[in-house]
Amino acid sequence: MASSVRKNRGIHWKSLRVQLFLILLLVGIIPTYILKYGILHGYEEQSVNQRSSLIRSRAQMISPLLAETGYLSDQPSEESDTQLEQLADIWNGRVVVINRSFRIIRDTFGLDEGKVIVAPEVLRSFSGESATNYNRNARFLEITVPVASGSGDDLIEGLMIISVPTDEIREGRAKLSSTVLILQAVLIFFSALAAAYASRLLVRPFDKLTASFDDKGGFLDEDISIPDYTETQMVASAYNRMRARLSAQEESRQEFVSNVSHELKTPLTSMKVLADSLLAQEEVPNELYRDFMVDITEEIDRESKIINDLLSLVKMDRKAQNLTIKETNINNLIDLILKRLRPIAARQNIDLLMENDRPVTAEVDETSLTLAISNLVENAIKYNRPDGWVRVSLNMDNTFFFVRVEDSGIGIPEEDQKFIFERFYRVDKSHSREIGGTGLGLAITRQAVLAHHGAVRVYSREGEGTTFTIRIPLRFVEENN
Ligand code: ADP
Repeated sequence: MASSVRKNRGIHWKSLRVQLFLILLLVGIIPTYILKYGILHGYEEQSVNQRSSLIRSRAQMISPLLAETGYLSDQPSEESDTQLEQLADIWNGRVVVINRSFRIIRDTFGLDEGKVIVAPEVLRSFSGESATNYNRNARFLEITVPVASGSGDDLIEGLMIISVPTDEIREGRAKLSSTVLILQAVLIFFSALAAAYASRLLVRPFDKLTASFDDKGGFLDEDISIPDYTETQMVASAYNRMRARLSAQEESRQEFVSNVSHELKTPLTSMKVLADSLLAQEEVPNELYRDFMVDITEEIDRESKIINDLLSLVKMDRKAQNLTIKETNINNLIDLILKRLRPIAARQNIDLLMENDRPVTAEVDETSLTLAISNLVENAIKYNRPDGWVRVSLNMDNTFFFVRVEDSGIGIPEEDQKFIFERFYRVDKSHSREIGGTGLGLAITRQAVLAHHGAVRVYSREGEGTTFTIRIPLRFVEENN
């Protein structure tokens, strides 16, 4: 079961579940902060607005009185003084009155009377704007109200600047803040619960997937399907495809092993039969001994040929990394092959011809390419008729070179042509045995050609002859993985 997943306790940052949990938690937490900010900010704004509009309306009530009594032209007015004092007292603040020459006529704190202030906000207010300035850190609210005898900029005679402390607003905000904090903690707690549950639920199909992989002890037997998500189904399908490939590979491996065992056993069985029959006789004439020993030696040769072919095949199975690629003269390579095989051809009176008019050099592995072409020429000789011919030709274009091996031999039946490159496949078992093949030659050829990223094809008609063609790139193509 998914024990390997569950066994490891502790936080795994790479785990999808942990990451989903964190994302969901974040999605839950962020709104609580926005909410908190909204509530506190809204409260503060509303309190400031409320307070400033109260102060402003009160100040606006006093404004005509100041204008009418000529207070701003230094006319004393007790009523105006009282009103201003009251305004300052109500809010526990300070009221400053300035005239058109920016001189302070009245300061309820009595600190700055007679002084002149020219500040930008003062200038702005003389153009008719009333201003509110809330300074949260310095904890005060400052309201500027024009004093006018009527409406219009020209009629503004002075300004009232009322500053009041805002400690109450701050306190109210702090109280509200602790309540909101509790609300926020509760919300975060529930989001964490929901995130934990949801992340578990969302990841469950992946656990199922792991469990299905683990459950398939004989993993090549059954397809799996986890249709919960498109993604899990994609993984399951990819697994199934890989399973199919592995099964096919496993099947061919088993078949190969059983073929190898069989092929290796056949010569041994023959040798055993020959040896046993010699041992069973008391007085064996020397000649018979000789005949049997010749047969035994033939079987030994056959056995070692099979083993050699198998070794070549296995070596090449390990692919291109074993190839020693270098610039090679292909004409020379083919000449050498033909030279080596000419005596064998001569034995059956077969003409071995070479047709190549242009020199070809290519990046190849000499050993494996020699093996590939030798096998084709050897077959062309072996499966020929007496007094026949074998023609080898070499050609090239811009990217490839082509080797063609043509013979006047027995041909290959159409239905066998697609199997001849398989290991141990032989068209006519008894005939091939007589001729002395292992059934590995063409498999080796194909393997070698594929390792060079080339292709090999066969064209044949039973009784008329066979043509094999090899096409290989002139420049070796590196495997890009
Ligand atoms: P073998 O060792 O038997 O020659 P190969 O793999 O080289 O094995 O060839 C497989 C089979 O293909 C041969 O047994 C033979 O029946 C057939 N074959 C290969 N080449 C030729 C050819 N040039 N003409 C006729 N038959 C051929």
